Amino acid sequence: MHEFLRALRDAAKRWPILAAALLCSAGVAGLWSANIFALFPIIEVTLKGESLQEWNAKRMAEADARITATENQLESLRRRLEADEAANAAETDRKRIAKQIATLDHEIRKDREIESYARWLQPWLTRFLPDDPFKTVLLVVSFVVVSTFVKHVLMLVGAMLVGWVAMGISRDIRLKVFDKALELDRAQFMQRGSSGFMATITHTSDMLAHGITAVYGGAITEPLKILACLGGAFLISWQLTLACLTLAPLVGFLMVWLNKRMRGLSKRMLTRSTSFHHVVLEALNNVMTVQSYTMEPFEKKRFRDCTGDMMRIGMWHTFYATLANPITEILGIGMVATSIAVGAWLVINQETQMFGITMTDRPMTVPGIMVFFGMLIGASDPVRKLSGIITGFNSGCVAAQCLYPLLDAPSKLVPAADPKPIPSPHREIRLEDVSFSYDGIDTVLKDVNVSIRFGERVAIVGPNGGGKSTLVNLICRFYDPTKGKVLLDGVPLTELALEDLRRRIAIVTQQTELFNESIYYNIRYGRWDATAEEVEAAARKAYAHDFISQFPQGYHTMVGPSGYRLSGGQRQRISLARAFLRDAEILVLDEATSQIDVESEKLIHDALAAYVQNRTVIMITHRASTLALADAIIQVEHGVVTKRPAASRLQVA
Ligand code: ADP
Repeated sequence: MHEFLRALRDAAKRWPILAAALLCSAGVAGLWSANIFALFPIIEVTLKGESLQEWNAKRMAEADARITATENQLESLRRRLEADEAANAAETDRKRIAKQIATLDHEIRKDREIESYARWLQPWLTRFLPDDPFKTVLLVVSFVVVSTFVKHVLMLVGAMLVGWVAMGISRDIRLKVFDKALELDRAQFMQRGSSGFMATITHTSDMLAHGITAVYGGAITEPLKILACLGGAFLISWQLTLACLTLAPLVGFLMVWLNKRMRGLSKRMLTRSTSFHHVVLEALNNVMTVQSYTMEPFEKKRFRDCTGDMMRIGMWHTFYATLANPITEILGIGMVATSIAVGAWLVINQETQMFGITMTDRPMTVPGIMVFFGMLIGASDPVRKLSGIITGFNSGCVAAQCLYPLLDAPSKLVPAADPKPIPSPHREIRLEDVSFSYDGIDTVLKDVNVSIRFGERVAIVGPNGGGKSTLVNLICRFYDPTKGKVLLDGVPLTELALEDLRRRIAIVTQQTELFNESIYYNIRYGRWDATAEEVEAAARKAYAHDFISQFPQGYHTMVGPSGYRLSGGQRQRISLARAFLRDAEILVLDEATSQIDVESEKLIHDALAAYVQNRTVIMITHRASTLALADAIIQVEHGVVTKRPAASRLQVA
């Protein structure tokens, strides 16, 4: 709820649009009740064959006549009271007469109000309305048609304005979630994984937009319509209106109960949607493994199970959402039924009281009660629509509860408040007493003290799971150390601008990551200013130019999703070309030539030997050919890191 209020506040920042939408809502509500009120003159004139001016003049004359009659009655009652007081008559008699005088006083006041209102109205009626009854009917009918048209235009404009705000908010939220996904450190990212972010960006943001639309679109218009109609009914008889609302507390209680159930279901739906995305992405991204291990039936079952689960919860949700309709309808029909029963009784018996309770000041006329019914029917329709609004409100609450904590969670990679500049190229990378743990339990790196001079070529070796990639990830600041510091020229990485650090690094990993674009795009990625010649030169260094030239579309060949149209070795070479083009002062190669054939690898190593001059190169490798390029070896084993010159290693070997 609290988070959803934040979303509503965010939406309220676009207040001019919302204010315009609100005006449209007020217009719609006003026209809604005006249309019903317009029934009154129609009924009045069609039933009695009078023009409205005649009806009003008659009302005035009747009120005048009543005032005169009541004044006469009052006069005689006052005289009787004076006589009784002079004769010292019984106290009870005097009290009864005084009470009658008070009632007549009240009636006379009412009649004077009616009379003065009718007198005020008469010139307006004469000026604007025809004096022929049929023409009046035509005018009113035209008013109803035109105002219905205007009402729908206002509804359309209002819906578009609210939609604009809701979609704007949903887009903002999507952008923020996407930005967050790119900002978080890897561990935080992996907590949700790409499927979690995918579900949040698509489904959850939609739910939030739905909630905002429900609140600003309907939660204002519909209650306004209800208020406008109940206000009209109140004017006719407030006592009767209250009597018709006796069911409201019960319906309110039922709606609160329903609300709780639906919110719980929306939450479950959201959790299922995340696991749904998870199953889909996992199976589709690993489709080769699924097919080669003939796991299709298993994956199909998994997908059927989770969609079945979603369907079950969806059905419960539909059940409760639909249940809201009869509940709100009970209120609507209850209001109308009470008004018909009580109203009809009052009209038929020409009474003003029921069970001793005064319902109207004077007996109701047929047109009066008809308009009263109309007003209550007019109120019951928006009451029914409230159920849809409540459903939207619930999804908004649940979505906001999921979205805002994610957006509020600070990235563990805290940006430096006052980033320190360091010269380019740097002089040294140093790890000082660095320890690191992913989960806070197992220490992956223990008290690492190692330094790499600028221009040094180091090979990182060691068994699988020893911590080699972790070490490189710390140098690239994909994580911050649990203890100790990683320093560039003596400045902790945490005090450098992250972009400054990353601009100095070019990285090639074992799992090449390519975009579903052209080869040209993929090599230039991160160096948009590079010319076609520079791209080709980089491709030549990575021994990629030859195979690229053989494609009919050359550099403009599309690589397909994740580069599936290329072989593993070709992908690695494009990755290498990208890193060469970046021309960074630190080159990180994580088993970067592992999939390249021996012949090409040798050529690449020759190119690398020329390229790596005047830059720091960090290579994770098991290959002797790559080791030959290294000046020093960093051995990482069970989290313990040692460094030695490459020559000594060769001697030992
Ligand atoms: P290497 O590169 O030497 O093969 P890594 O640095 O990738 O080893 O991993 C070192 C240890 O850290 C391994 O035991 C691995 O299970 C663990 N590890 C790696 N990445 C994560 C992660 N994101 N979350 C939790 N543990 C991890």
